[in-house]
Amino acid sequence: MTTNLLEFDLDGLCAYCEQLGEKRFRATQLFRWIHQRGASDFEQMSDLAKSLREKLKARAHITALPVITEHVSQDGTVKWLFDVGDGNAVEAVFIPEDDRGTLCISSQAGCAVGCRFCSTGHQGFSRNLTTGEILAQLWFAEHALRKRLGVSERVISNVVMMGMGEPLQNYTALVPALKVMLDDHGYGMSRRRVTVSTSGVVPMMDRLGLDCPVALAVSLHAPNDPLRDDLVPLNRKYPIEELMQACERYLEHAPRDFITFEYCMLDGVNDQPEHAQQLVNLVRRHGGGRPWCKLNLIPFNPFPASGLLRSPAPQVAEFARILTQAGIVTTVRKTRGDDIDAACGQLAGDVKDRTRAAERMAKRRTITIAPAP
Ligand code: SF4
Repeated sequence: MTTNLLEFDLDGLCAYCEQLGEKRFRATQLFRWIHQRGASDFEQMSDLAKSLREKLKARAHITALPVITEHVSQDGTVKWLFDVGDGNAVEAVFIPEDDRGTLCISSQAGCAVGCRFCSTGHQGFSRNLTTGEILAQLWFAEHALRKRLGVSERVISNVVMMGMGEPLQNYTALVPALKVMLDDHGYGMSRRRVTVSTSGVVPMMDRLGLDCPVALAVSLHAPNDPLRDDLVPLNRKYPIEELMQACERYLEHAPRDFITFEYCMLDGVNDQPEHAQQLVNLVRRHGGGRPWCKLNLIPFNPFPASGLLRSPAPQVAEFARILTQAGIVTTVRKTRGDDIDAACGQLAGDVKDRTRAAERMAKRRTITIAPAP
């Protein structure tokens, strides 16, 4: 079996090239061809010695994930559904804005955390993605979009690990992928333009702070433990107070940063004025009296199995007013790509019924292998 070179960060690729008897600078050249120029054919890599190209052709490949579907929204949002084998699929979404292009990518097929308001959580957990499968979403999207737009410069300026899965429960695959995003020979993104979103895996937050302190978003969704125990089951293991302390420790490694708290607004569940006041008190008890976090209020995208409803807009506005008046920077997330189910919490919409995803893939395979009439 040959090796997919998307699996490696630069150190990994150097080690791989050394095994082939090649020097480190050759690995850097190869890395730039892959990630900066989107090359998948070793013959294209004209500044690599012919002997190295021959070795690579025999032992390695650069392969994206098969695309099952692609949907383009009227607002320019693009959603891809990728096949990761055995009837599993993951999604990535590109969200263009005036001053940035953000790609939201997945870290796992399904998710074991099981948040009540999340359609990915309702589909259960299948498996962790590999580093190459995480990176393949970025590699494919960046170079497909460049081709489509007819540009040679970078299209994706920001990456958010907010697709399917809990990234910090797939830590060993996640960190090399983050390193490729930050690497000047890779995508060259600044630390603040790469965001890991976690439901609060406290020990791994501490490790990420040490290993690769990118921007951190925390799925909070409730201001007290009884409510959060119900909405985000991981809270029973790492309750709010422990989570807040982990956030404070994280900021020691990422000075001048803010933690973003994600808060999905659920009608009559967590959207009352007393919940906003509890949030204010929680924020004030931490951070040593300086501004240290932002609140991002997310309109819920209802799906039948959740039994939950979206908070009415006036309720969200009042909630935001209480937080803002208390001096907490608060935003209400715009929904994007609504016409293609690409908004937050809908990323599993297409694949939550795995049988259907498997059927679609089976059909596609049938078409591919059907003999000519
Ligand atoms: S919100 Fe995130 S952590 Fe919770 S179930 Fe969904 S994907 Fe998993």
